Amino acid sequence: MENSLKKNIDGMKDWLVEIRREIHMHPELGFEEFETANLVCKWLEKFGLKVKKGMAKTGLVGLLEGKRPGKTIAIRADMDALPLDEANSVPYASRIKGKMHACGHDAHVTILLGVAKYFSPLKDRVKGNIKWIFQPAEEGGAGGKVMAEEGALENPKVDAIFGAHVFPFLAVGKVGFYEKEGLAATDRFTIKVIGKGGHAASPHVTKDPILAAGHLISQIHSIVSRNINPLESGVITIGKVQGGTAFNIIPDEVELLGTVRSLNAQVREELKTRLEQVTRGVTGALGMDYRFDYQDGYPVLVNDPEMSKLVASACSEGIGKENVELLKPSMGGEDFAYYLQKVPGAFFRLGCRNEGKGIIHPYHSSLFDVDEDVLPFGVEMFVRIINRFLDMEIVA
Ligand SMILES: [Zn+2]
Ligand SMILES: [Zn+2]
Repeated sequence: MENSLKKNIDGMKDWLVEIRREIHMHPELGFEEFETANLVCKWLEKFGLKVKKGMAKTGLVGLLEGKRPGKTIAIRADMDALPLDEANSVPYASRIKGKMHACGHDAHVTILLGVAKYFSPLKDRVKGNIKWIFQPAEEGGAGGKVMAEEGALENPKVDAIFGAHVFPFLAVGKVGFYEKEGLAATDRFTIKVIGKGGHAASPHVTKDPILAAGHLISQIHSIVSRNINPLESGVITIGKVQGGTAFNIIPDEVELLGTVRSLNAQVREELKTRLEQVTRGVTGALGMDYRFDYQDGYPVLVNDPEMSKLVASACSEGIGKENVELLKPSMGGEDFAYYLQKVPGAFFRLGCRNEGKGIIHPYHSSLFDVDEDVLPFGVEMFVRIINRFLDMEIVA
C-alpha cells in the first residue's frame, strides 16, 4: 500500500506542474481570484465533489462525502497573489504586470487539487468526510476570517482543519511543524504627533513635532526591552515616518506608522497599552498633542498540540523522523489563525528550497520560486494526515 501511495502521487507530477504554472502565470490579488476560482471549481466538479461557490466573494468549498460514517476533516489553501513584478525569467513567469505569486499560494492551490484527484476514485473507501477550503485574500485581507464567518466550517461541521505553507527556509522533502503558537498576532498603528509649525529659525515660537517624534521613536523602542518579560516575545517596528516639506520649515505634524507583533493575548495588551502611554507621556512633556490609532490584525495562530503531534507522526511515517522538524514560532502572521479559533487543527510547513537549482529566495521577493517537487510531496503529506485523522488504512 505504501508503494502504491507514492506511485499514485508521483504519477500526478506532470499534471500538478501544469496546474501550478497555469496559476503562476495568471496571478490575481485578494478578493479578485475569479479565474483561479474557476479553475479550481472545474477540477473539483470533474473529481465529483460537491462544490459551494461564491463564499467570501471568490472562495469555494469542495466536499467529498465518504460512503462510511466518520469524522469531517478540512484542508485549506489560499489563492491570492501579491502586487509586485516578477523578476524570474522562467518560462512560467507571471504574465500579468504588477502581480506575482511571490508567496507560493499557487503551490497551495495545486497541492489541494492533487489531494482531490487522489481521493476522487476512492470515495467508496473514505470513512467520514473531506472538505477542501479555497479562500481568497490571505495577504492582509483576512479572507480566512470571512470564509469562517460565512460557514466554511459548517455543514458538515468540521472536526479538525489542516493548512500548510511552502517554506523557503527548509529544503524540499522536509516538513516543519509548530507545537502550539506558530505565528504572531499582527496589529498596526498610526501615531500623529501634533505640534505647531513655523520658521526653522524661530523654534521658540513653534512646537516642533520632528523633535518630539525623535524622542518618541527612541522611547517606543524601550517598551519591548523594559516592559515585556524577557522570556516572552514581542516586536514593535516603526516602518514609516512622515513629516515636513522643506529644510527651513518646522511642520505642524509628524506621522509614525508601525506594527506590533506578539504571541499571546497578555503581551499583545501590554504592548498596546504601553504604546499609547509612552506616546501620551512624550508628546505631553514636549507640549504637543497626539492622535493614536490602533488596529487589531490577525490573531495569534495557535495549533492544537494533539493535531500538531498527528501531523508530525503521520508525515514521519512517510519521510522519516529526520525530515520532520519542530520549528520555533515566527513573528509573521497568517489568517489560518481564524479557523483555529473555531476548530482544532494544525498549520505546518512544506520545505520548497533547493540550493542546487538556485531556489533560495525568501517570500515576497520578486525572485521567489518553489522547487516543484514540493507539489507531489505536499499531496503525499496531506493524504497521510487525512488517512491518519479519519482513521483509515492507507488507500491508494
Ligand atoms: Zn505572503
Ligand atoms: Zn503566504
